[in-house]
Amino acid sequence: MQLRCVECGATFAPELIYRCKTCGGILEQLGHDEVAPFSFGEGRTPLLRASRIEASLPGFSGEIWLKDETRNPSGSFKDRLISAALGRAIAMGVKGVVCASSGNAGAATAAYAARAGVPAIIIVPAHTPMGKVTQIAAHGAVLLLVEGHYSRSYDLARALAEEHGFANLTTTFINPYAVAGLTEVGSEILAQLGHAAPSHVLIPTGSGPLVKGVWQGLLDAGATTRLVAVQAEGCAPIVQAFEADAKQVTAWGMPETIASGISDPLIGYERDGTYTLRLVRESGGLALSVSDDELRAAMRSLARLEGVYAEPTGASPIAALPRLVTEGHLPAGARVVCLITGHGFKDGRAYQEMPARTLRVEDPKNTVAVAKLCEEAMREHA
Ligand SMILES: [Zn+2]
Repeated sequence: MQLRCVECGATFAPELIYRCKTCGGILEQLGHDEVAPFSFGEGRTPLLRASRIEASLPGFSGEIWLKDETRNPSGSFKDRLISAALGRAIAMGVKGVVCASSGNAGAATAAYAARAGVPAIIIVPAHTPMGKVTQIAAHGAVLLLVEGHYSRSYDLARALAEEHGFANLTTTFINPYAVAGLTEVGSEILAQLGHAAPSHVLIPTGSGPLVKGVWQGLLDAGATTRLVAVQAEGCAPIVQAFEADAKQVTAWGMPETIASGISDPLIGYERDGTYTLRLVRESGGLALSVSDDELRAAMRSLARLEGVYAEPTGASPIAALPRLVTEGHLPAGARVVCLITGHGFKDGRAYQEMPARTLRVEDPKNTVAVAKLCEEAMREHA
């Protein structure tokens, strides 16, 4: 196994390096890693047919599938990256690990490091949702809160890794072993669909390692699939470049969205976004952004039509569906896979603000009255 620069093609021995020594480009893992991942049950997540969401989309006549990554041990797809990267870090004998995160990768790192008995430093923006912060703290990691957008946390993690000997498990494109852990998302989807490739895979996208993982997994198997990168309107650097037909992605200002998992402005590592944009284009796909209101509606659909409880970022592919249909991107017979990346337990605020179907029971012994109340409520919500 070697590391290879995706830009200049230079190759390097498998060390803990994070950028091409020649041009500073993104490194990818070439071939299978002989070092075992540190695993505790991540991956092999279910692929669920979403027939009620299909029926709710006017003009759509194809298949919608949900790749339910909320089932991973810490509740998000980040466990796949951390499992691979932590296995590699342990094999290299590091004194500890560091991870800059918008929350989910931090929770994954904290959980996996706790189980491995490896010291962990997690760096998150100070405004990270409480559910994610609580989860990280619960596992005993050293938790650093940094004011401002995610890129500031990213810079601090890089400095701690480069100057103080911690392995950097940040799940942008910085750790090639982590990103290689996502290739299985693509190959699992293909196997679960009986090797009939999906026409489209919709992917919540920050810097985009999940785009790379799905792209690689499908490509290795010879599948042709259009990749759709979904971003939030309040943080959409890749969509902005896609719509402007630009070659390079430029950084975003201050993100403003309820989708914390994809609120990455890419400041200082814009080339991560440029690489993701290149893969999206090579697949014949597209990038589009969704509003917070569309995200809330998608969370509601997932929860009420399919029984899947997702955080805002995890619901973003569902939020993209209506527009993809009306704009003609999903023709008859389309077979669409939506990646549901993170659990609703992590950030349930949007659900808490939704009108709930709760009724106060004054007299639980009066079952006739209670039954009547229930039937009325069911009719109202039908
Ligand atoms: Zn290079």
